[in-house]
Amino acid sequence: MSAPNIKLAANLTLDVADARPPTKPEANAQAQVGPVPIPHEHKVHPTNPGGENATLTFVGTATTLLEWRGLRIMTDPNFLHAGDHVHLGPGVTAKRLTNPSIPLNQLPPIHLVLLSHYHEDHFDKLVEDRLRRDLPIVTTPHAAHHLTTAQYKGEPFTAVTALDTWEAADIIARDAKFRVTAMPGKHVQTGMMEMVNKAIGALPPTNGWMVELFGAERKPYRIYISGDTLMVDELKTIPQNFPHVDLMLVHLGGTTIPAPNIPLLMVTMDAEQGIQLVHLINPDVTIPIHYDDYDVFKSPLKDFQDLVTQAGLDQKVVYLNRGDQYSFKV
Ligand SMILES: [Zn+2]
Repeated sequence: MSAPNIKLAANLTLDVADARPPTKPEANAQAQVGPVPIPHEHKVHPTNPGGENATLTFVGTATTLLEWRGLRIMTDPNFLHAGDHVHLGPGVTAKRLTNPSIPLNQLPPIHLVLLSHYHEDHFDKLVEDRLRRDLPIVTTPHAAHHLTTAQYKGEPFTAVTALDTWEAADIIARDAKFRVTAMPGKHVQTGMMEMVNKAIGALPPTNGWMVELFGAERKPYRIYISGDTLMVDELKTIPQNFPHVDLMLVHLGGTTIPAPNIPLLMVTMDAEQGIQLVHLINPDVTIPIHYDDYDVFKSPLKDFQDLVTQAGLDQKVVYLNRGDQYSFKV
C-alpha cells in the first residue's frame, strides 16, 4: 500500500488576538477565563531537554491544549465529569470515571479545535451546547456535516473545515505557521465488521492528525495524533509521507463496546497495538492519552508501560496525568 499524495484543501487564518472565551456568552455567567492553569506536574524531553517554547497540557480523555507562539489549539473537547454518561452508538453508553483537569467554563481562549471524530467521548453534549458557534473547528467531513447543519438546537457551527484523509489545511496565526493533515484512522477492522458498521452507522469515521509547526528550523516540528483507531494497514502509509515524527499522542484504552451480533468489539488500540504503533511511527517522544477516562476503556495504561519497558523504550515515552504539561522545543 503506498501513501496517497497530500492534497491542500484549505487555507485558514486565525485571529490569535481573539481573547474571548471559547464558550457562548450565555454559558459564561460563571466563566473565569484566564491563562492555562498552572500544571500539576511539568515534564520535558526525557533525554534532550532545553529551549522549550511550546507546551501540551493534558486535560483528560483525548482533550489536550497545544500552545505555541500565542496560538492555542484544543483537541477533542470532552468536559464531562465522573459519573456522567455518553452515548456511543445504538444502545451503547459509557460512564466517565474521571474529571477533566479544567472545567469547560474556565478554559483560556482557544483559537482552533481539532476534532478527530463526532463521538461523545470526544465532543460531548455539554461541549456541543456551550461552545461558541464561530469557534474554528477542523474535523472529518462526517463531523463537519453534523456541526454545520444545525441538527443540534438549530445552532450550526459557522467556522468548520472538513478534511478527508490525506487532505491538509495550511494555517496562519500571526507568528505561528502550521499545517494540519488528516491521517488515516479506523475504529473497525476492514472487512465484514466494517460493512456491518457502515450499514448501521454505529461508529463514525475518524481522522488522525499530523500537525506540523513551522519554526525557525527548516524542518517542521511534527506532532502525530493517532485519533481513535485500531492498528490497521492504512497506518503503514503514514511513515511513507512522514518518516520523522517528533511527538506522538496515541489514543489507547482498548475501548471495548457491545456490537450487533457479536458480544464485544474493540474500537481503539490496546497496549499491544499501541506499542506496534510506536514501532511503526518511531516518534522521538510518545505520550499516551485516552487511557482510563471511561468504563469502556479496558486496556490499562500499566499494560502499555510494561510493554514500553520490555521494548527498552522508557526514555522515549512521557506519561502525563490529567493536568500535567509537557514542554518541548519547536
Ligand atoms: Zn474515544
